[in-house]
Order: sequence, then C-alpha cells, then structure tokens
Amino acid sequence: MPCVLLNLCEYDTQKLVKIKSVKLGSLKWTLNGVILMFICIMLLWNKEYQQYDLVVSSVTTKVKGVVKTNIPDIGEVVWDVVDYSGPSQGKNSFFVATNVIVTKNQKQGICPEVPPSGKQCRTDKDCEKGFSDQYSHGIQTGACVKFEGLKKTCEVSAWCPIENKKRPRPALLASAENFTVLIKNNIRFPAFNYIRRNILMNETDLKGCIYNKYTNPYCPIFRLGDIVSEAKENFGDMALEGGVIGVQINWDCDLNSIFHNCVPKYSFRRLDEKESNRTLYPGLNFRFASYSTVNGVEQRTLIKMYGIRFDVMVFGKAGKFSIIQLIIYIGSTLSYYALTTVFLDWLIGTGCYSKEAKQNYTEKKFESVQDREECFLCVSFVDENNLRVVKKSRKKTLQQTRPLSLHQRKNDLASMRTLIGVLQCGPSRSLPVQNGQSDVLPKSTETPLLEKPQSGCQAWCQCGCCQPSASLHEQLCCRLSKGRCITSSPLFSKLILNQSVLETALFYVDPLAELHEGTQLRHGAYAQFIRWRFGDITPRDAVPVIPSCCVWRIRAEYPSPDGKYSGLRLHQAMSSFQAEVNAQT
Ligand code: ZN
Ligand code: ZN
Repeated sequence: MPCVLLNLCEYDTQKLVKIKSVKLGSLKWTLNGVILMFICIMLLWNKEYQQYDLVVSSVTTKVKGVVKTNIPDIGEVVWDVVDYSGPSQGKNSFFVATNVIVTKNQKQGICPEVPPSGKQCRTDKDCEKGFSDQYSHGIQTGACVKFEGLKKTCEVSAWCPIENKKRPRPALLASAENFTVLIKNNIRFPAFNYIRRNILMNETDLKGCIYNKYTNPYCPIFRLGDIVSEAKENFGDMALEGGVIGVQINWDCDLNSIFHNCVPKYSFRRLDEKESNRTLYPGLNFRFASYSTVNGVEQRTLIKMYGIRFDVMVFGKAGKFSIIQLIIYIGSTLSYYALTTVFLDWLIGTGCYSKEAKQNYTEKKFESVQDREECFLCVSFVDENNLRVVKKSRKKTLQQTRPLSLHQRKNDLASMRTLIGVLQCGPSRSLPVQNGQSDVLPKSTETPLLEKPQSGCQAWCQCGCCQPSASLHEQLCCRLSKGRCITSSPLFSKLILNQSVLETALFYVDPLAELHEGTQLRHGAYAQFIRWRFGDITPRDAVPVIPSCCVWRIRAEYPSPDGKYSGLRLHQAMSSFQAEVNAQT
C-alpha cells in the first residue's frame, strides 16, 4: 500500500542521450521536415480537418416522349409513356421498352407446341400425355399433330396460338433514344442538417435544358440516347435485347462557408453483362398480358417486352471543418516522428559509424539495471572462496537455497588497509561513551548475552554458534560444511568487535561524528563485517546477509538497551547499498 501511495507522488520522465553531431543533427531535421511536409499535404489533400457525414436521399423520375411504330400483324401504333414504361417501376429506377413481341387473341385451347420448347414427333407414341417441363407452353395431350409444313410436334393444351415470333430487328422502339427523363434527387446530410436537391436552376432554364457533360452538367433532364452513349454503349444494339444502365449521382460536398460547394456529379455505366454469347439469358425482358372477353370467351393479348432499366444510385458525403477532427489527425501523425528516431538509431547501430563510436553511443544510451522485484541476496561462507548470489526463497532456509551464480571475491583493500594500519599502531584510547552506556557495553567476549535466544543445535548451522530464527532468510551459518566458526578467528575480534577500531571506522566515514549510543557501534560492526567479507560492491547489487553466528556475536558485544532487534530489513537495504549499516539492527 505505501508503494502505491508513493507512486502517486512520483513522476517519471525519460532520460535522453544528446549526441553532438552535425551529420546526425542535420539528418534529423531533414527527416522531420519531410515528415511534416507529408503530414501537411495529406491534411490538405484528404481534408483530414473535416468531419464527414453520408448522404440520405430520395429519387423520383419522370420519362417523356412518344414514338410511332409499325408492329407486325397489328400495324401502326403510337407509344406514349404509359405504354413503354412497363407495368411496374422499381425503387429508384425506371424502365423504357425498346422492343416488343405481340401475340394477339390467345384463347384457352389445344394447339401444336412450338419448337424448340417442344421436340418434333412422328407418331402419337412420341408424345406423353400430361407431360410438361419448365420450357413447355402447355400440357401435352398425347397427340402428334402437324405444326408447319412437314414438321409435326406434340399437341398441348395451352393459350393458343402459342407465341412464335422472332425478336424484331432493328428494335421497334429504337427511337426511344430521343426520350427524356427528369431525375429529381433530394438529399440530406443529417449530421449537418443540410438539405439540397439536384434541380439548381429556375423553371424557365429547366424547361429548355438537356444534360451535357461539358456544356450543361447540372441540368437534371437527360436524353436516354446520351445516357447510353455516356455509358459507352450503342442504343440501337442495346434496344434489341434490353439491359440495365446505372445512373450514378455523386455528391461530394464541402460545407465550409469559404469553400462552400455542393453540386451533383453524374456518371453512367452499364450494369449487366453485355456480351450475349457469354450470358445464357442476355438483356432484360418480361411478359405481360391484357385480357378481354369476346362473345363470352376470354381472350388475351400477350406482350413480350424488351427494354432498358435505368437504376439511379446516389452516393455522397459532406465534410465540414471540425477542430476535434483536426486535433485527432495531428495526434495520429505525431507517431510518424518516431520514424526519425528509429531510422537514426538504426543508422548508429549499423555500419555508418566506427566500432568505437558505436560502442560509445551504446554505453551512453543503455544503462543496465537489475530487476529489483527479484530480491537477490549475497552470501559469503568462510570455507568457500566465492561470493554466492541467491534468490530469496519462500520455502528454504537461506543456508540451503541454491546459488544463482558464483562470483570471485573482490575485496576493496584500500579502506581495509587504513584500518589495518590503525590496528598495527595499536588500539587508540577508547573514547568515553556518553549517556552512561559504557556500562552496558561489555568489553569481554565472555560477557553473558542480554536476550540471547536459547542456543540449540540448528539443522542448518555448521559452526554450532548460530541462533534459531523464524525468518528463513536469517537462517544462515558462516560455514558451508562443519567446522570452526568465523567468530573464533582472532581477526573477527580485532576487526569487528574492537571498539576503538569501530570508532576509527566510524570517524573515517564521518570525522566529526558524535558517538552516543551502542547502536552506532553495533551498526558500525555490521558494516565492518560486510566490508570485510563482501567488499564495497556486491555482485548484481545483491543484499549482503551476515550469518546468524556473527550477528549474535556482534549483538552480544554491543547489545540494544531494550534487548530488541528488528532483524534483516530487505526493503530498506535494497534502497541503497549504503544502507547496509541499517540492514541489521
Ligand atoms: Zn552456524
Ligand atoms: Zn559461525
């Protein structure tokens, strides 16, 4: 919990390495300039500063024109909009008939089937009574009858006579290319509450106009022939079989007051498959009939109609300046500048620089730090020449934890030499300790301990001097295998326990220190032990741990007045190696 609170009061910032190089500097600014230019071009080109909305639209159409045709068997007929528009109109589309086959006065009865729907026959045996399939015009009666000349086909019960005419060529209503259509298109951009329609002119101008891509691009009245030729088709050819033409209206609107622009743009293209030989059912056609009753007998006129369907499709979007969009765009482009760093780092890392320069940059740039979460402890055994780095275990005693790595002991002899010099001169006069604590500080190693826990034979102890401890990382002996304790070494008493040496060591660090308490000497002794056995810097920044026998020996020499010791405090010790003094109290 304190860690969380501590994090709230902290701010982390990045540490940067400044390389003073004209080459790299100019390269950086050139690259940044190129990126900035790219961003600006994209901003203006794609209008990234705008908020967009899609069009909602409605379309209505009105076709106009009449045509006079000569239909075989019927004669001259004048077609107006009702005739050629077909029986129904789809949504956003209109139909114009271009070719027709009319079969007049059909009645219910029996008549010969028409090839190719019905195959030819010789006798009645070739015809199956009641047979029909999806190509039949009626139900077979079982008779084989004369059809035309010497040809015989099966007789069917159907609307007779059956439609049997070729598609007229050229198309009967080929002159429908002169028809005109008025396309009314109302659009709306809901996000901007903007309404507009494609009729941009007044009534007089509208009446006389015909759309032309170049001279009259905003006129909503179109000549059908122009639409088809704009779609790169020939009206006469298309009229034979029919087809589908798409009329696309595109609204690309800029609703900013300065650049306001919202006009439709028309384009045309054929939507169905054009090549007859590539599609099984080419073009567009359908049949319908008109019924009448003559002398109580129902008759119908069957009309097969070929024609062109025009589908009107409306696309569009409108854009308006939005500060939020601009901020989002700028924000999204900032990451492009990282490319400069990536590129320059790559340049430094690769061949462009000498090995020494590269090494120099890398050393300055990367600082290797140990993962402090993983608490490493450093252990030194008197019967082993190496320092052990151990990971703190939750299950095993420190004595039994297997080492992560072994390191050669690197004693910093400079400070030790000073101390040894002091030792050689003989112990100086001990300073009187104030607060009357001198009474409490026993000089002799034989002095009974104040609150020494019951000495017992610990399973992990090899020297026989260690004390029991509940904490697993305090269960550490001075030895790896059975033998003499380090505390029995003469140097231990001289270097660690001798009061005048400890005072000298404390004054060495702080020449004007005032010695009041035994605690200072105890801590000094711990530090002294660490300096002696571990050196000034432990490998991998691990926390040095003093064996139990040594801790209790030091405590016996410089006990706490209240007999309380807080033990090894790892979190504090880890904050700084200098805090080693506080590591054990
Ligand atoms: Zn021991
Ligand atoms: Zn020991």
